[in-house]
Amino acid sequence: MSDSNPSATSSPTLYFAERALLASGWANNVLIDIRNGHFHRIHTDAKSSAEAVCLSGPVLPTMANLHSHAFQRVMAGAAEVSLCPEDSFWSWRNLMYKIVQNISPDDARIIATELYINMLKVGYTQVGEFHYLHHAQGGQAYGDQSEMSRQLIQAADDAGLGLSLLPVLYSYSGFGGLPPTQRQARFINSTDSYLALHQQCSRLLTNHSRHKLGIAFHSLRAVSKEQIETVLQALDTTSPVHIHIAEQQKEVQDCLSFSGQRPVQWLQNEIGLSERWCLIHGTHLDNKELKGMASSHAVAGLCPTTEANLGDGIFAGVEFEKAHGRWGIGSDSHVSLSIVEELRTLEYSQRLRDQQRNRLHRPQQNRVGDNLYQQALLGGNQACDVRFGLAQGHRADFMVLDSHHPFIAASESKDVMNRWLFACNGNLVKDVFAAGKQQIKNFKHAHEEASRSDFIRVIKKVMYDT
Ligand code: ZN
Repeated sequence: MSDSNPSATSSPTLYFAERALLASGWANNVLIDIRNGHFHRIHTDAKSSAEAVCLSGPVLPTMANLHSHAFQRVMAGAAEVSLCPEDSFWSWRNLMYKIVQNISPDDARIIATELYINMLKVGYTQVGEFHYLHHAQGGQAYGDQSEMSRQLIQAADDAGLGLSLLPVLYSYSGFGGLPPTQRQARFINSTDSYLALHQQCSRLLTNHSRHKLGIAFHSLRAVSKEQIETVLQALDTTSPVHIHIAEQQKEVQDCLSFSGQRPVQWLQNEIGLSERWCLIHGTHLDNKELKGMASSHAVAGLCPTTEANLGDGIFAGVEFEKAHGRWGIGSDSHVSLSIVEELRTLEYSQRLRDQQRNRLHRPQQNRVGDNLYQQALLGGNQACDVRFGLAQGHRADFMVLDSHHPFIAASESKDVMNRWLFACNGNLVKDVFAAGKQQIKNFKHAHEEASRSDFIRVIKKVMYDT
């Protein structure tokens, strides 16, 4: 099996850009030589050559989206109805549980294909798919245990997106091994069935060089300590490990009641944190947890638009930056799909909290937009097991911003990122290349029309039963 996308435009190997953001900073007159889907050589202050294709705007690295539940895209924007004065994450989850019962394997693939095409269109070329919708309606296992995983792999291949598949172990409904509810039946595995699933996923991904396989535990409330230990021992790899950690105060309180420790504290003391870990939604951490997490080099998986939409709370971004913590972004429930909006929401949440401007910067980078992009790029790389960034040897994933926009056309290179992230609202990602192949050309994906009509049909069926 190959991970090539037959729809991708066949691309030459030489490109020329008047300006490009390299790992070392902005450079002018950049000649990019791509071989076997990777950057072979990048020359700066170069002359264009007759064979080189001109890239018509500023060139940037693409980003890994480190946290996705693809099926949730079908309900984006449908939960903005006040049903009770205490609407919260937990009432949103009730709607999600209801809708998930309607999703067939075909539906899951169609939703994910549309989602992944749209990820490419905004500049993500890899996604960390936190995949826990494993079983059929009612909770029966499919004949092929990896049925739903296969749909996601197919969707990623059809779209041309790299997939970091994170099969999720989910066993309980609460701390202390509370039995799962009927509404969670499609998610549930034992340790043994999870390990078998993981092995099948590993087989499915053989020969897919752009796809990666990691490990995920749904949350501390959904698995036991013994399960985490058994899985980490059985899957003796160096691949990333993801977990939802502290999205809600109730989760923190339940963890304290059960163990006497807060979630990150528990994970550090009982299992140990390292740079393999990606802790999704570190929304409610105390200072000690925050510093411990930063020094462990684990990635904080931030999902600013989803966290804002669900009313989760505000991540202590300024404090985490001061502790040199590593972080990246994910679109999670996909209520929004935009690198710009994730990064802008993150920075603005800190400004609103502190009543100050320019919050997320570092001593070596006082331009907020540049710092946001750089940190999210590095954190996404680590959490999704990829290396994006324009540098020799890295996978040739990059994008071109629309140079027709006055802010882009007129800006000196040093201002491009701030102008784009803070002052532009329409999508400015004009062209996107993944592993050297052009997947988005002049804002368009080759499969987008067909995908859109399938997606409309699935929304009608899943959400409105028509
Ligand atoms: Zn999540």
